[in-house]
Amino acid sequence: MEIKKNDIIDLEIGNCTLDGSGVGRYDSLAVFVPHTARGDRIKAHILKVKKNCAFAKIEEILTPSPDRTECPCPVYLKCGGCSFGHIKYETETAIKENHVRECFRRIAGAEPETEPVIAAEKIYRYRNKAQFPVEINGEEIKTGFYASHSHRVIDCPGCLLQPEEFEGIINIIRGHILKFSITSYDETSGRGLLRHIYLRKGTKSGEIMVCLVINGDSFPGEEELCARLSGKFPEIKSIVININKDKTNVILGKKCRTIYGDGYISDYLCSLKFRISPLSFYQVNRDQAERLYEKAAEYAGLTGNETLLDLYCGTGTIGLTMAHRVKKLIGVEIIGQAVKDAELNAKENGIKNARFICADAAEAARTLKDEGISPDVIILDPPRKGCSAELINTVSQMAPDRIVYVSCDPATLARDCKIFAGLGYRAVKAAPADLFPRTGHVETVCCLYHQKKDFISVPYEPKDDGYMNLLK
Ligand code: SAH
Repeated sequence: MEIKKNDIIDLEIGNCTLDGSGVGRYDSLAVFVPHTARGDRIKAHILKVKKNCAFAKIEEILTPSPDRTECPCPVYLKCGGCSFGHIKYETETAIKENHVRECFRRIAGAEPETEPVIAAEKIYRYRNKAQFPVEINGEEIKTGFYASHSHRVIDCPGCLLQPEEFEGIINIIRGHILKFSITSYDETSGRGLLRHIYLRKGTKSGEIMVCLVINGDSFPGEEELCARLSGKFPEIKSIVININKDKTNVILGKKCRTIYGDGYISDYLCSLKFRISPLSFYQVNRDQAERLYEKAAEYAGLTGNETLLDLYCGTGTIGLTMAHRVKKLIGVEIIGQAVKDAELNAKENGIKNARFICADAAEAARTLKDEGISPDVIILDPPRKGCSAELINTVSQMAPDRIVYVSCDPATLARDCKIFAGLGYRAVKAAPADLFPRTGHVETVCCLYHQKKDFISVPYEPKDDGYMNLLK
């Protein structure tokens, strides 16, 4: 039977997508319903009918699925960031694991041995970073998240993924906004000052960085704000103004001015200390990043004699945590501030066999190949869009024994694995890692071997304490 907008139908949810929508079948039509779970029996209110599918909302839950749970976050429904807020964590990880497997099967036509998902112990308050857009209308201040598919700010106090202190810090900044009649940036006119409040916390070190992204050069009452923030939160080690005067939706501008502290914070990862500047990438879930890196080290199968190339290295984290198990480490990263951090991180941890190059990964790989460098193992950790075909070609021409590909998008990972397969590199093993509990994102580490090589897996060994002294 045909259905149309505003019809109410009975529906049984058979499956759940990565964005937390359940899918039920009405005759042959797939009907997507947000906030449902597999096994729910519901009355669905049809919102839109397309040729192959329809979209609906819950009118009534007739029989709730056993996968359901109560979401403790006060802003869960408003914000939309936690696709799996209403679903038990075991089910969420099973969905993510299955999604990774399916991407390999459908996109790459490959079936690497996929290990059980590396699940998180902490599913709330795990993030170490927040970038809140700001909207000020007279006395009304909104700091939170953009509503989905829009740039309307939804005020989201009390988000349970963030560290608790962020709320108090935001409140101090709100008070300051009112006192100094600070305006918020308007994307259409390009006027107004405050764009984003960007906060970071070293999960292990406890150090906090506050960064205000502004469309201007200075922020009214800077000194007073610094005194207030640091007085109330001694963990704040740095307060930075980031200048972004461009008409763009890129959050951060290229220039930073430190108004309190050293301009960076530090954190500990795999027994090393890392300096993190505002413009440098740092994994948002530190505890799970450690487990991801351990898996990456296992797949890298290092014995101490290798040249290791870490492409898209950020502040050097992955490579540096493996530096004690290789002869030579080369890291490549495009953001200058991150490369500086990487160099200092090597130095501060007594690592002397590492060098870092500030360049586009594909260009640097080509230059290194032309110089005759042939790494034994190459790590790839690109942004969501994955690697360019050019980079994949150069990497395979360098003929490493192993490639360890770390990815935050299973679809682009699978696409790239398919290209690698054509060049002789087979995806042998993969491990999904849940770095983003409750949300629709999943990280994967995948190991590609040259077809002629046998797979060896060397268990990760944490750096022993004598290592740093040995190198000094
Ligand atoms: N491996 C690091 C960072 C991964 S995030 C870690 O685990 O912490 C991806 C990194 O790639 C970011 O630091 C980003 O700045 C960098 N990047 C993005 N495009 C790049 C390019 N074309 N060439 C080199 N690095 C790039």
